[in-house]
Amino acid sequence: MRNKTIKELLVHGTVMLGMAACIVVGIQFAVERVVGAAILENAEKRALRWATEFVRVVPDIESIAAGAKPTADQLSHIQAAITSGDIFRFKIFGLDGTLMFVSDMDVQRLEASDRHSDEARTVIASGKNDVEIEDGREKSNRPDTYVEAYLPGHSVDGILFGAMEVYVDVAVMADSLRTGFGRLGLILVMVSAAAFLGPSAVVISRTQQLRARDRAMLQMSRFDPLTGVLNRGAFAETLSRLFNEREKTGTGIGLIFIDLDRFKEVNDTHGHDVGDQVLRHTAQVLLSVAPGSDYVGRMGGDEFVVVLPSVDAASLRSVGRRIVADVARPIEVCGRRLWPGASVGAHLSMPSEPEDTALQCADIAAYRAKAAGRGRLVEYTVALDRQVSRQRHVENSVRRAVETSGFFVEYQPIVHAADLRLAGFEALIRMKDAAGELIPPSEFVPLAEHCGLIDAIGDQVLTDATSAACEWGGDLFVSVNLSPLQFKTGKLVDRINCYLAGTGLDPSMIEMEVTESLLLDTTDEVNEQIADLTSLGITLTLDDFGTGYSSLGYLWKYRFNKIKIDRSFLLGFDFDPDRYREVVSTVLLLARQLNLSVTAEGIETEAHRDLLVELGCDMLQGFLFSRPLGREEARALATSGRDRWVA
Ligand code: C2E
Ligand code: MG
Ligand code: MG
Repeated sequence: MRNKTIKELLVHGTVMLGMAACIVVGIQFAVERVVGAAILENAEKRALRWATEFVRVVPDIESIAAGAKPTADQLSHIQAAITSGDIFRFKIFGLDGTLMFVSDMDVQRLEASDRHSDEARTVIASGKNDVEIEDGREKSNRPDTYVEAYLPGHSVDGILFGAMEVYVDVAVMADSLRTGFGRLGLILVMVSAAAFLGPSAVVISRTQQLRARDRAMLQMSRFDPLTGVLNRGAFAETLSRLFNEREKTGTGIGLIFIDLDRFKEVNDTHGHDVGDQVLRHTAQVLLSVAPGSDYVGRMGGDEFVVVLPSVDAASLRSVGRRIVADVARPIEVCGRRLWPGASVGAHLSMPSEPEDTALQCADIAAYRAKAAGRGRLVEYTVALDRQVSRQRHVENSVRRAVETSGFFVEYQPIVHAADLRLAGFEALIRMKDAAGELIPPSEFVPLAEHCGLIDAIGDQVLTDATSAACEWGGDLFVSVNLSPLQFKTGKLVDRINCYLAGTGLDPSMIEMEVTESLLLDTTDEVNEQIADLTSLGITLTLDDFGTGYSSLGYLWKYRFNKIKIDRSFLLGFDFDPDRYREVVSTVLLLARQLNLSVTAEGIETEAHRDLLVELGCDMLQGFLFSRPLGREEARALATSGRDRWVA
């Protein structure tokens, strides 16, 4: 950079010197022209004046022009004329241009051919003077500068007798004019130099400023200002260059897509300054593993990409792992200790795969890494592609449904085991994609949880369920599934209170089903909310009982009112009825001891029903009785079909 500036300055300096030299030469030339013109004009006048006087004082000059030898009288006048003034020599030509007299030599000694003068003949023919400046420095008996003036010769009576050549000494005049004009020229040079150099210096400095600005703009247009890595557009250029070059070399190109974990939380909790620091830290980590700064790009938000040209699968994997480990190191930001993390996807692109596809594969792998629990490296496979594109489709459908209130709720009847009369309904969320295909909740609920959209879903279900329950007569309960994440905001109990107040529904007619996963990382906050819900009079149910690892432990620990035996137990019954009977009896015994009511899910056959009735289960739910129903069907059942399954 420094060398470039010096080079530029040298070039500028040379150009300026050249221009200054041109100006000096130009001014010198102009001075010579002006001085020359002044001398000629002056000398011509003097020559004319002298010639007129000469013709007047020298008697019968025409005879000399005609070739006669000057008389003594004529010579004495000639002598007088030549010794006065600046005229130091003269010649007289005849009408045919032949030299007849020279003031300082004998013309008879000259060859006839040397006596002929074209200039004299031209002057005689044209009647116009011919004046020229001559340099006398090399010639003897000549002043340094003199003028040769050819003049047509007229007698006192005005008769043309030939021509005269008058030598005028202009040395003194030329000297003084040159000195005067020279000084003026010097002043002009200096003035024009000042006039030229000033603006030139300004132009040069402005040019340099513009260049610096261009460089800064290029930098800005290529690099992300926050993190200093390439921006999306510039990274795309790098990729296409590397992929083009790779077509010749045939090597593998590794792409690593990095998506920061819980970055939104960092911004929301600690503020954007801290978020910015985390992004800068991540960029530094990536720059430290990349082959150069041109190999890391920020794709927007908290997403980065690293490209590794000429890499094999093992090296790509090791760089990917290093990124996961290095990004996850705790950092100190604004006095706070943070534990960032990144979901990282890697893809080894082989020849003929376009860069867009390759980048998409790395992105898919990163998406999978995030869905699989974050803070890990996932390498792209074709199977992953299908999985991830489905996940994306579902995620987009959830977002669309949240925006357009596109969810709806179905209600699955739950009956009393004792008489098979309708006891209530479980509210189950439903969602269709843009093409109208139903997507099961087991697929979209976890994604909604992952994308932080579960609260929006929970609100829609609670709104629909509480208002539906009011239509059922007030003595049928509605059971609502809660996602563990709905406890995170700490506002769940307030919301439920709102719904109860808004609909006037009796709290004892609401059940909340939670799964064991909620309890795996229970905090005091969650415990309090569970206690608040039960104290409101709401029934708290442990859903999917038996599928977790420590169900029994939870039962001791938390104040549940009910358990729902998972459908998987009934699947077991179909294979090994005796063993299943034992397990379910034990669960029921335990529930009795803990004063818990028991519902069995997934009753599909009469055998299931009969067994669970026999074992003393409290409530039954399953396709044998009914599939989940639309709101209208559920209302119709509640109004006039409660005894539908009674024997
Ligand atoms: P879940 O709470 O255990 O709900 C019972 C699931 O078993 C429902 O599936 C229901 O249709 C199905 N089912 C009921 N009886 C039978 C049967 O006899 N045979 C078979 N094969 N299946 C039966 P669904 O509606 O697909 O819901 C699946 C899961 O999605 C639910 O399991 C629940 O965990 C979750 N879910 C549903 N709605 C919501 C909701 O509003 N919020 C939350 N957080 N989760 C929900
Ligand atoms: Mg449930
Ligand atoms: Mg269940």
